[in-house]
Amino acid sequence: MAERLQAIRGMHDVLPERAPFWQHLEDHARAVVEGYGYREMRTPLLEPVELFKRSIGEVTDIVEKEMYAFEDRGGDRLALRPEGTASCVRAAIEHGLLDQPQRIWYRGPMFRRERPQRGRYRQFHQIGVEVFGLTGPDIDLEVIAMTRRLWQALGLTGLRLELNSLGDADERARYRSALVAHLRAHEAQLDADSRRRLDTNPLRVLDSKNPDLAEIIAAAPSLLDYLGEASRAHFEQLCAGLDAAGIGYSVNPRLVRGLDYYNRTVFEWITDALGAQGTVCAGGRYDGLVAQLGGRDTPAVGFALGVERLLDLIDTSTVETGPDAYLVALGDAAAAAAPAIAERLRDAVPGLKLVTHCGGGSFKSQFKKADKSGARLALILGDEELAGGTLGCKPLRGQGEQRALSFDELVTTLRDGPNIGVLRTDTASGRSG
Ligand code: ATP
Ligand code: MG
Repeated sequence: MAERLQAIRGMHDVLPERAPFWQHLEDHARAVVEGYGYREMRTPLLEPVELFKRSIGEVTDIVEKEMYAFEDRGGDRLALRPEGTASCVRAAIEHGLLDQPQRIWYRGPMFRRERPQRGRYRQFHQIGVEVFGLTGPDIDLEVIAMTRRLWQALGLTGLRLELNSLGDADERARYRSALVAHLRAHEAQLDADSRRRLDTNPLRVLDSKNPDLAEIIAAAPSLLDYLGEASRAHFEQLCAGLDAAGIGYSVNPRLVRGLDYYNRTVFEWITDALGAQGTVCAGGRYDGLVAQLGGRDTPAVGFALGVERLLDLIDTSTVETGPDAYLVALGDAAAAAAPAIAERLRDAVPGLKLVTHCGGGSFKSQFKKADKSGARLALILGDEELAGGTLGCKPLRGQGEQRALSFDELVTTLRDGPNIGVLRTDTASGRSG
C-alpha cells in the first residue's frame, strides 16, 4: 500500500461534523460587523515578505521566528500572511480607498510557525475589522462594542476586557527611556530575548510570556503616567464611553500588544478558560501604519479575533448540525418521483436543508439513515402517498406521530413548524449567506 500522507503539524482539517460550529461563529460575526456597516475585503494569502517586515516590525516574534517566508520559483521573497492588518492597509492604499473613512472586515487563515498546543496552531483563523480615517475615541468605542455584541450573540460569558493607552510616539519615547532604565537595573535577571529587546524594542519586554520576568514587569513604570494631554483625554473619553455603554473593563498599564504598529488605545479580551492561550481578541489604534507603508497619513483602528480559541469556548450543544428533513422513498414509483418532489420543496422553502435518500434499500435501512443524518423530520413517500398526493411526515426527535400532509401543508410545516421555525429565526443570517 502507498504511504499515507498527513496534514502539516499545527494545521488542521475542519471535518463535516464540526463545520456547523465554524459556520455558526462566522455567521454571527458577519451579522454583527455588517450590522455596523462594515464591508468585507478579501486579500491574497501570499504577500511580499517586505510588507510584514515593514508593518509588524523586524524585531517581533512573528517576523523573527514565526513567519512562513520563502523564495518562489521566480526569486520573489514571499510570505504566507501571519495576520490581516498589513494586507488590508496595503490593499487600501493600492486601491485608493483612503480618501474617505472606511469600515472593513476580513476573515480567513493566518500562518505562524509557532509551537503547536491548545489554542496555538500554525494555520489558524482570524476574523478582524479595520477602520481607516477616523481619529476619535468614538470609533474605538464602536469596535469594542461590536466585539461585546458578538460575545452576547454567541452566548459567551466570562470574557474580560483589558485596556491600555500606548500614547503617541513622543510620549512612548519618554516612557521608553524610563522603562529601559528600570530594565537595565534588573538586566541580570532578564532572559536572552528580553536583553536583546532592551536596545531594539524594550516595550516588547512587557509582552513577554516568561513567568520569571513577571515581577520585574509588574514593577516597571506605567505608560499611563507618560501620556500627554491629548492622549489622556482620548483614553478618558473612551473609558467614559465604555462606562456609558455598560461595558466593563480593567486598565492594564502593562498591556502593549505583540506588534509594533499600535499607538494610543490597545485592548484584549481574555478568558481564564483556555490556560496560557487566553486572549481571544486583540486590537487597538495604529495611526502611523498607513503612512509607514507609503500611504497618506491616515488614522486607523481595528481588532482580530482568534476563531479556534473562541470555538473552544462556545457551547456547541445548541448549534443545529443536522438537516431539516430527510426524504425516504419506498418502491420504484416513489423513488422515481422523489427527486422532482424534493426540488419542488426546495423551491417552496428557501434555505431548506433537505437530504434525499439515494441508493434504494428497505424501509428500515432508509429510516436508519434518516435517523443517523440528524434530521429533525423524516418525509416518507410510498405508493399510498404517491396515489393520494401526500407525504408522510414524522418527527425524528422526541415524541410525535407520523402524519400525512398535502404538499402545501408540508411546505407550511417546513416553514413554520416548531423546530424549523425556531431554527430559521435563530440563524436567519446564516441562511442568507
Ligand atoms: P498570543 O499572545 O496568544 O501569541 P498574539 O498577540 O500573537 O497572541 P495577535 O497577533 O494579536 O495575537 O492575533 C489576534 C488573535 O489571534 C489572538 O488574540 C489569538 O486569539 C489569535 N491567535 C494568534 N496567534 C494564534 C495561533 N498561533 N493559533 C491560534 N490563534 C492565534
Ligand atoms: Mg503570538
